[in-house]
Amino acid sequence: MRVYKFGGASVRDPDSVRNVARIIRDHGGGPLVVVVSAMGKTTNALEMLTSAYMGGDTAGMEKKYREIRDFHFAIARELFTDPRHIVFDVLEQSFYHLQYYIREKPGSNYNYEYDRIVSTGELVSTQIVSHYLNDTGVANRLFPAQKLVITDAHFRDAHVDWILTPRVIKGKLNPYLRPARETEKPSIIVTQGFIGGTSQGFTTTLGREGSDYTAAILAYSLEAEEVVIWKDVPGLLNADPKLFRETLLMPNISYQEAIELSYYGATVIHPKTLKPLLKKGIPLKVKSFTDPESPGTIINQNQEHDSLLPSYIFKFNQVLASIFPRDFSFIAEHNLSRIFSDFAKHGVKINLMQNSAISFSVCFDKDPVKTPALLRDLEKNFTVKYNTGLELITIRHYEHASTEPILHGRELLLEQKSRTTLQLVVKPNEPQD
Ligand code: ASP
Ligand code: MG
Repeated sequence: MRVYKFGGASVRDPDSVRNVARIIRDHGGGPLVVVVSAMGKTTNALEMLTSAYMGGDTAGMEKKYREIRDFHFAIARELFTDPRHIVFDVLEQSFYHLQYYIREKPGSNYNYEYDRIVSTGELVSTQIVSHYLNDTGVANRLFPAQKLVITDAHFRDAHVDWILTPRVIKGKLNPYLRPARETEKPSIIVTQGFIGGTSQGFTTTLGREGSDYTAAILAYSLEAEEVVIWKDVPGLLNADPKLFRETLLMPNISYQEAIELSYYGATVIHPKTLKPLLKKGIPLKVKSFTDPESPGTIINQNQEHDSLLPSYIFKFNQVLASIFPRDFSFIAEHNLSRIFSDFAKHGVKINLMQNSAISFSVCFDKDPVKTPALLRDLEKNFTVKYNTGLELITIRHYEHASTEPILHGRELLLEQKSRTTLQLVVKPNEPQD
């Protein structure tokens, strides 16, 4: 049993959907669960629709609704030549539900409304993909993820119920994946990434880019042989190709290394994805959907190759704050606990910290709402000096790296080294904000 995950870029237009169908057709037999994200940039568009809806901008909302609807119908019209195909009724129904919903006045819980609306992206993409597969000889069954991934009601960042979910997934999917008779072909199942549901039947989402996580939840529950994430890059690269002219493919790294990379901000795999796979020893492959034959990257138990290449991870829009006790006391438990409780209160994650006898320096993401509120609270007890518009550069296995080209055009404000990781807080000569 394997799990394939296709992200938004892999289903962004009719040709990409055809390509996905080819990859599934050539999967080599055996039971398969296919997890599909919303098409192209649909989730972003639905987020805009949600904020227009919540903000009472009816014209903006209607415009976004039209765009999203037209985008999906245009793709469907190219994939299904018969205008009476059932897929058009199904799409019509999904969009009618959405339109009906947004005509009513919104409730006050933004995140609840968000999940209700934004989940439409995955619901319509899977309808199109599943029907297209069926029509092109890849028999499959579509299962709604709201009934498979059981979560709490923490809308927009729902937590999976790890007791119920594997039980439900096994109970519902195994009868299809393991045919009763030898003559029957094992099935292909299609489901939505990113979305789940509460036991009460409310739709939830798992956080942006959460479809990888869905693939891991399914693989964990069904004890899959492997998970393949199909992407528009050849595998895991040691730097973002948008930032670096030359990047190298990492053919094999360990779960632990991949967890570290995503912790420091590497965005190729959703950070929650790896732990369930690590727990069951299920390998994760990252492969290119434009070059499905090439091996890509495999993430497994093997730590042998972890330190062969340096990896570069950039975080932009950083704040570096230096915090000084007003009463000239030293930075010790009492002051630290006050500082940390302010960060916890405002939900601000610390990306890097360093202390001296009389000051404590912290680097964190700038947020239009959280940052000013945090600084206001800190300033009640401390003197705070801060810089914004900074970058945090993390270099894993820096022993093979040269920092000179990276520091070119940047002023180094703070440096921190461990045995494996070098972190630099820098100020670009051209300010970021
Ligand atoms: N469609 C969702 C998003 O764009 C989930 C995903 O793609 O993984 O964030
Ligand atoms: Mg995506």
